[in-house]
Amino acid sequence: GDFAIELETVVIGSGPGGYVAAIRAAQLGQKVTVIERGNIGGVCLNVGCIPSKALISAGHRFQAAQHSDVFGVTTTGAQLDFAKTQDWKQHQVVETLTGGVSMLFKKHHIDVLEGSAFLVDEHSLRVIHPDSAQTYSFKNLIIATGSRPIEIKGFKFSQRVIDSTGGLNLTEVPKELVVIGGGYIGSELAGAYANLGAHVTILEGTDTILPNFEKDMVQLVTKNFKAKGVDVITGAMAKEAVETDTNVTVKYEVSGQEQTLVADYVMVTVGRRPNTDDMGIAQAGIQLTDRGLIEVDQQGQTNVSGIYAIGDIVPGAALAHKASYEAKIAAEAIAGQKSIVDYHAMPAVCYTDPELATTGLTLAEAKVKGIDAKAAKFPFAANGRALSLADTDGFVRLVTTKADHTLIGAQVAGAGASDLISELTLAVESGMNAEDLALTIHPHPTLSEAIMDGAELALGMPINI
Ligand code: FAD
Repeated sequence: GDFAIELETVVIGSGPGGYVAAIRAAQLGQKVTVIERGNIGGVCLNVGCIPSKALISAGHRFQAAQHSDVFGVTTTGAQLDFAKTQDWKQHQVVETLTGGVSMLFKKHHIDVLEGSAFLVDEHSLRVIHPDSAQTYSFKNLIIATGSRPIEIKGFKFSQRVIDSTGGLNLTEVPKELVVIGGGYIGSELAGAYANLGAHVTILEGTDTILPNFEKDMVQLVTKNFKAKGVDVITGAMAKEAVETDTNVTVKYEVSGQEQTLVADYVMVTVGRRPNTDDMGIAQAGIQLTDRGLIEVDQQGQTNVSGIYAIGDIVPGAALAHKASYEAKIAAEAIAGQKSIVDYHAMPAVCYTDPELATTGLTLAEAKVKGIDAKAAKFPFAANGRALSLADTDGFVRLVTTKADHTLIGAQVAGAGASDLISELTLAVESGMNAEDLALTIHPHPTLSEAIMDGAELALGMPINI
């Protein structure tokens, strides 16, 4: 055997968990080595958050080109060159960002080893290439190996049975697309392809799409799906896909009745599984939950001293900003700082039409926690900027304590929700109350005024409603 090369701090994975951990650890004085078996930037930059938002933007442009009559703008013959869309998404969006991460690694003197990391014991690992392998010992380790799509019985991934990665990289807009699983990934891509011209059917096993958002928010998305001809079939159990050279037949069951759909592609987005099963986790003595996740303490440390885990492989929402947040805490912990995680103001965003966003608690969650709270819901229909954008579907909801109007959570559905949720997250994080928000001067006319108006509503003194 070879002998081990000694390393100081090793990060496995270069997604929004791994790359952020590596940079912060380097900033705090560690000599850092990143091991990556795929592309720098992980799922998020290559086949997740970023390319999905690019396709969603393209879909919005195509729709706006065709449907701006209300503004007095009409066009004839709007065309979509999808090869160009994909080219832009890949070479100008994804590669700009992944190239940026590589540049940041250089700037911070972070070494990158290409290959798969496999733990040997709690102090060493092997990096495996197709034709070589090398053992390394480490002082500190941050595992950020992320997750991958789940394959379900009867739907073996192939040419026309695709996962979200296949869905992002189609070379044509399907005429017929079936999406199995109406979570946020399935719903976002369903909406994007519908906007790009596909007829889309979502088959959802439970009784609702987007189960992590409240009913009145999901209803807005369902209404929009209906308006653009997306069929949402709930209570649908997907059974089997039968593929030919030219199409795929999807068999599913609703209320005991077997149904079929013929499509160009069926995209399966029913969930993701943590990448903890093929890298020697047990050899290092790290414990896994029955779902294959790694339990960590408040600093992100596993049950093995000096080994940390962050991102999609630890419990909690599988979101990029959570991975990056945990990354900074773990890097600081390795540097001897006392940082600990605090998830009470964790935002989540879904880029459907309209966008949905939430932070902190919902009213129902507050009740479960025994907090005496109330909700104030201010509609975008009463917001001048939303009206001028012809985009009035939705609302801002503030969840405040009855005792002193402390903001403990908020939800936004509608135009700009993905950005508006940040002000609300800051307010929850800082322990602000409705008065703080109401007394903050908001520029006019902006969508953000709906937050100020919502705060006034919470205080029982609304001006604009
Ligand atoms: P990942 O980004 O999965 O990165 C892990 C990296 O580790 C990969 O590059 C992998 O190659 C590497 N790796 C794994 N095992 C090994 C090994 N043994 N050796 C070496 N390298 C290894 N989140 C949001 O917050 N907002 C969004 O809008 C959003 N949209 C999404 C859209 C889609 C279509 C998908 C699929 C996901 C989306 N997500 C979104 C989720 C987000 O991508 C993940 O939460 C995030 O990427 C997790 O980051 P991570 O660092 O934990 O892991």
